Formats: sequence, C-alpha cells, structure tokens
Amino acid sequence: MIVDGRSFRATVLTLYPEMFPGHLGTSLSGRAMERGQWSLDTVQIRDFATDRHRTVDDTPAGGGAGMVLKPDVLARAIDHVGEGRPRLLMSPRGKPLTQARVRELAAGDGVVIVCGRFEGVDQRVIEARSLEEVSIGDYILSGGEPAALIVLDAVVRILPGVMGNDLSGLHESFEDGLLEHPHYTRPQVFEGREIPAVLTSGNHGAIDKWRKAEALKLTAERRPDLLAKMATKSTSQG
Ligand code: SAH
Repeated sequence: MIVDGRSFRATVLTLYPEMFPGHLGTSLSGRAMERGQWSLDTVQIRDFATDRHRTVDDTPAGGGAGMVLKPDVLARAIDHVGEGRPRLLMSPRGKPLTQARVRELAAGDGVVIVCGRFEGVDQRVIEARSLEEVSIGDYILSGGEPAALIVLDAVVRILPGVMGNDLSGLHESFEDGLLEHPHYTRPQVFEGREIPAVLTSGNHGAIDKWRKAEALKLTAERRPDLLAKMATKSTSQG
C-alpha cells in the first residue's frame, strides 16, 4: 500500500554499508520498506578511490592527529548519486536536527546522507557539493552511520501511512513546541501509585486541560529553552 503514490528514497554514502538498514529493517520502518513506502540504498565511498590501495583518507594539512576523508574521492561518490535530493553531511559541527527539519525532509522525495569518519571530511567538498551539515547532538560519535540511522528513523516514522495510527504522530514532544505530558495505562494501581483521577473521569475537556498543563510544567522544569523559543516566536509573529 503506497498511501499517496509517493516513495521516499534514501541513499547513504559510507565506508560501512553493512551497518544499513540496521534497526530500520525491523518493526514499522521495516514493514514500510517491504511495502515500498521508502527505500534505502548505500554507496561504498571506497569504490570511488582510484589508487591501487583504494585510499579514502589522508593526513590533515597543517598537522595533528587523525586522518581526513579525501575531497576528490567523496566528490566522485556524491556525483555518482546525482542531484535532486537534499544532501546532508552528518557532523557534530552541523545545525542540530529538529523535528521541523525532519518534517521538511519527510515532505520531499528523499535524501542523500554522507557519513563522516576519522576527523571528518575535507572542507572543500562540503562547499563544492553544498552539503548541509547536520548534528544529532553535542557529543562525538566515531562515525556518521548511527547519526544517519537516527535521521532516517525520525523521517521514516512520519511518512504517510508508516505508523499504525497516523494520528499518534500529531501529539508528541516538540510537535507543538512543548515536551509531551506523562502517559499511564492499566493497572489502575501500580505499587501503590494510582493513575491521576482526571484521566479516568471520561471528561475530555478536563483531560485536555490537564495534559496541556502537565506538558507546560514538564517543559518549564526540563527544557526552559523551548519555552523561551516559543515566546520569541509568538512575539515576532505579533
Ligand atoms: N573531529 C571531529 C569529529 C569527528 S567524529 C570534530 O571534532 O568535530 C567522526 C564522524 O562522526 C564525523 O565526521 C561525523 O560524520 C560523525 N559524527 C560524530 N559526532 C556526530 C554528531 N554529534 N552528529 C552527527 N554526526 C556525528
């Protein structure tokens, strides 16, 4: 079942294609892939090295530790994929990934993701191929592959028809700029703790109000930066 006739195409450039599709081959994303709602192919960057040793990295200009991915090899791999889709480079120096960017990506035809390794990639290929640097957080991974899997996980789960219940994607943390309210399910009493009475009252107006208040409280406690961002947004909108 392809819900709106669209199929999202992901291409990942990596030195470790065996890391894909990883967890995305299981559960909802795996089934969506089987149904043809999205596809994932990998390009082995090393296939675009031209020397006898198939060298992909070299020592950093200016000296220092580690190695740098060569721009010529990576550019050939990128050109092999062709144009037409956004090209991301996973990078701790990139713009932090947001649900807003995830939504934009999911609305498109697909994405090309370059996974860095070593100390990173030569700056000139980032510029020459207009790579959009994207970070998944302020910590350092050993390679871009897990970061690419995270970006794709976030995108694929909101493609039309991928989640069992499409509505469940609408009321989540970040979708309205807030963290989500807490969840409860049976049993009614767990180790002496009861489900908040309002949630079993059947009064949907009161339930909505409670959830909104809890979301605000949680966001104020844990992520005051999100509230500050919302405040700036509403001021700038007049
Ligand atoms: N020397 C670099 C880190 C290189 S880590 C620096 O200090 O900025 C090797 C590769 O892992 C990177 O090229 C990138 O592709 C990936 N990576 C590491 N941390 C990441 C993060 N937080 N977000 C996205 N990609 C990351």
